[in-house]
Order: sequence, then C-alpha cells, then structure tokens
Amino acid sequence: MNLIEQIDDILPQTQCRQCGYDGCIAYACAIAMDGAPINRCAPGGQKGIDELARLLDRETCALDPEYGQEMPLEVAHINAEHCIGCRKCVVVCPTNAIVGAPKRLHGILTDWCTGCALCVTPCPVDCIEMVPAPFEWTRERAHAARQHYREKLQREEKREQERLKKLESDSDSARAKKRALIASILDQVNLKI
Ligand code: SF4
Ligand code: SF4
Ligand code: SF4
Repeated sequence: MNLIEQIDDILPQTQCRQCGYDGCIAYACAIAMDGAPINRCAPGGQKGIDELARLLDRETCALDPEYGQEMPLEVAHINAEHCIGCRKCVVVCPTNAIVGAPKRLHGILTDWCTGCALCVTPCPVDCIEMVPAPFEWTRERAHAARQHYREKLQREEKREQERLKKLESDSDSARAKKRALIASILDQVNLKI
C-alpha cells in the first residue's frame, strides 16, 4: 500500500465529509500530499488520530472541535408514513444504502449505512431520523463502506460518460440535419437558376 492508501485505511470510511473534504480518500490525499492536520475526522476519533500520528511520525493531538466531536454511531431510519419517494436521499447517500423505486416508499439497508447523516437535510418532508446503530463500526465495515462508495462513484462516472456521449451524438445529428437542410435549399436554388 502507498502512503495515501495506508492513511485511507485508517480513516473510518463513513464518507461524511465532516473533515471538510469530499470523502475519506480526499482527506487522505490532503494529509499525505499537502500536510493537512490529522485531527479533523470526528468519526475516527482519538484512536484514529493516534494511529495517523504513529503512521506519519507526527505528534498526536486532540480532535479539532471545529470539525465535530466523537459521538456514538447512528444509522438512518425512514419514517414510512411520510416518505413521498422523491429520491433526494438516494442521490446524496455515498454508499447506496437507500433503496426504493421513484414515488414509492424508500427504506434503509441498515447494514450498508455508515451513519454519515448526509441524507437527513435534503429530505423535503423531514422523514429521516438518525437512531442508535445496532452494531459497532469495525474495520470490516469500513472496508465494505469504501467498496460501496467506490461502486457508487464508478456508476456515476459511467452515467456521466454516457450523458456526454449522448450529447455528442445529439449534436452530431443536429449538425447532420442542418447540413441536409442547407444542401436541400442549395438544390432548390440551383433548380431555379
Ligand atoms: S469519515 Fe468523514 S470526517 Fe472522517 S475522513 Fe471520512 S469523510 Fe472525513
Ligand atoms: S442512509 Fe443516510 S446516513 Fe446512511 S449512509 Fe446513506 S446518506 Fe449516510
Ligand atoms: S428524501 Fe425523504 S421523502 Fe424523499 S425518498 Fe428520501 S426519505 Fe423519502
């Protein structure tokens, strides 16, 4: 493992962005490449900071309170009575832990939920609450969450590529139509001459 991977492996992979970076790997890059402080990951807590300090041979320090505080693990819960199936929570969930068809009730795959709470604010009917997690956050869970996050990023990247391809082919076909129109106008003009 290179240094970024080693740092990323210590980070808890909730992908909550409390550190101010766009996910754990982004924070790992900032620590390894820009010397970012090691005390901005609240979910990793003091244990995580100590591990990072050991790995990087830096002085350990306390969690910076500006970036949150250590809290017991929670998971999201959707109040079925109020969900309108708008999918806003699905879009922001980093690990694909929310399932449900459009305009239908959505539910949480609790085992896939990292407790990041990113789904709470976008919900227009305020039907998502965070409740105590029925499990501890282990290294195995962190690895699974990282895998789910990567799969989500890969799917998004694929969708973006397809969208760009479609845009390109739409504009090719618009250009072709325009060329055909100009050719037909020129034909008509030539006939009249
Ligand atoms: S768990 Fe959250 S705060 Fe910690 S590194 Fe990952 S995204 Fe940042
Ligand atoms: S369900 Fe909500 S709290 Fe759980 S991982 Fe997804 S966005 Fe985070
Ligand atoms: S954002 Fe709220 S209302 Fe919309 S699908 Fe998710 S839980 Fe249901």
